[in-house]
This record gives sequence, C-alpha cells and structure tokens, in this order.
Amino acid sequence: MSAPSRIRSDLDLDARTPGTRLGWLRIPQSRHESGYGVIPVPIAVLDGGEGPSVLLTAGNHGDEYEGQAVLRDLIRELDPAHLRGRLIVLPALNLPAVLAGRRDSPLDGGNLNRLFPGDPNGGPTAMLAHFIDSALLPRVAWACDFHSGGSSMEYLPCAMVRATDDPALATKLEAAMRAMRLPLALVVQATQDARTLPAAGLARGVVHVACEIGGGGSLTPASVAAAKGALYGFLDHVGVLALDGPPAATPRLMHVAGSDHFLFATTRGLFVPEIGLGETVAAGQCAGRILSLDEADRPPVTLHFARAGLVVCRRVPAQVTPGDCVAHLATDPGP
Ligand SMILES: [Zn+2]
Repeated sequence: MSAPSRIRSDLDLDARTPGTRLGWLRIPQSRHESGYGVIPVPIAVLDGGEGPSVLLTAGNHGDEYEGQAVLRDLIRELDPAHLRGRLIVLPALNLPAVLAGRRDSPLDGGNLNRLFPGDPNGGPTAMLAHFIDSALLPRVAWACDFHSGGSSMEYLPCAMVRATDDPALATKLEAAMRAMRLPLALVVQATQDARTLPAAGLARGVVHVACEIGGGGSLTPASVAAAKGALYGFLDHVGVLALDGPPAATPRLMHVAGSDHFLFATTRGLFVPEIGLGETVAAGQCAGRILSLDEADRPPVTLHFARAGLVVCRRVPAQVTPGDCVAHLATDPGP
C-alpha cells in the first residue's frame, strides 16, 4: 500500500449528483513564485444517474490537441440528462504540459504517460499519475485516453489498445475499438512500455482504450472530426449515451508487434522521406535518406524498413538526430 495522495479534489468523486459538476484536482507545489501554490488540473463530472462510470482524458501529453478540443466541447455541450451513467472528464490532464504546449511537464520534465503507477511523494507529474491510478481508475469501468503524434509525429487516425493475456478483456477492448468510428484499430504488443495510463487501467481491470489522431502540434477539421467520432462511438458502445445514425464502419484491425515495426534515424541531418503516411511498404524498402547538414558533399545515409507493413505514423520535423523515430508500421494479424 503506497502513501496517501496529497492531491485534493474539489469534487467528491463518490457523490452521485445528477448534472455537471466542475472543479480542480489541486496538486501541491511549493515553489519560489508561490510558496503555498497548487497546480489546478480541471476536472468535470457529468452524471446522468444509474449506469457505468467512464474516465475520459486528454492532455496526457500537452502538445496533442484533438482530445483536448473535443472533451472541452463535451463538457460544455452535453446535457447530462442524456447520460445513463457518469463521465469523469479531464481535458487538460498534465496541465503544466498543456499550458506549455509540450509533451512533458516543464516543472519536472515528467512525461505523464511514462510514470504510472506514479509516486505520491514524487514530483508533480508522478504525484498526478499516482492520483489517477489510485483515485480515478478504481472508480470507473471504462476509460479512453486521447492522444495524437504530438509535436514530433503524425498518426493515421486509429484506436489503440495494449495487448493483454486476458482473453475476455481482449475481446472487450477490441469491441470498443471497433465502435470508435476510426479507420484503423491497433493492438500494441505488451512488450511496449508498461508505464502508460492505459496500461495502468488494464492492470486495474478497466476496459481502457486510447486513440492516436493527427499530430504535428496542430489541428485540422478532419482530425477534430475523427476525435469527436471516436469519443461518441465509444460512449455509445459503453452504453452511457445512445447515438442515432448508422453503426460505425468496421476498422482494419492491425498489430504493432515488435521493435522491427519502428524505424530510427542513424545519424544527424535532414531526413528526406521517400514514403508517406498511409503507404504500404515492403521489407527492405527505402524509407528515405539523411543528408548531412554541415558537409554538402557527404553521401546521404539511407534508411530501410526491416519488414513490410503500413506506415501508420511518421516523424514531422525534417531534422533528425540519431535515435529519432522517423516512422512506424502496423501489420495484419498473423495466421
Ligand atoms: Zn501522446
């Protein structure tokens, strides 16, 4: 049993009061500019009475904007009388990162999605992870965490879940992804980082999905519409909000199964891609070349895919340094 959280919620998370309640999670942070200061993370509870509890989060990474936009719209626009259940909504989850428009927090360098299950005595980001894990996840049955490629990457719109050994949970995750009205549904193998929010949710038995929509530190009408469709498709699937209209088209289910799905820069320079987002590539195919920035006549370094697959994510900034991921693939499930 870990130490209790020092984060205080304005809202009683056990009270079931019909309507929309707004408040803040208050993360204490005593600092030079504000001796008794707190970091006020906005939280909303939209309660329609009997039904499941659902956690909706965006701004886990502060430079990923689609979810931040649609969850703010949801808080203002959704009449909780239409709900059968309860939504706990945090549209600016890692608030310092959101305010800075950065992936990680400028206060402590914390990447919230690499800090679960958190630490009640750590920095502000680790404290927040611990609060989410110990106080929010145990109160919900379903959760969706909204992501995009952030400042450095761009994604095809996709629902995403972490693979699990629990067949019943895997079936529920896949069904939820299929309802999210996105063209792709990716299952990421459990060898990937386990310190994420959705991984923490799964560890607590929550049917926890994520989505990756757009990126490049920007928004487009299409990416916002995709995020809104994912949100409402998910809520409809959970049974908390009934949608009119035709059912979602079936997405293409694919896997991200290992390190050979990721391609990294091997030298510093200007990456000139030869492939684009959404292209299907062959094993050994050239992904692009890296030109030296400071030696005009140096031969370029070429990068090649280790395997075949669909390019679901690409790097946005043209300059690369060794270790930057320039693209990653998804593949059809094996036989
Ligand atoms: Zn993210």
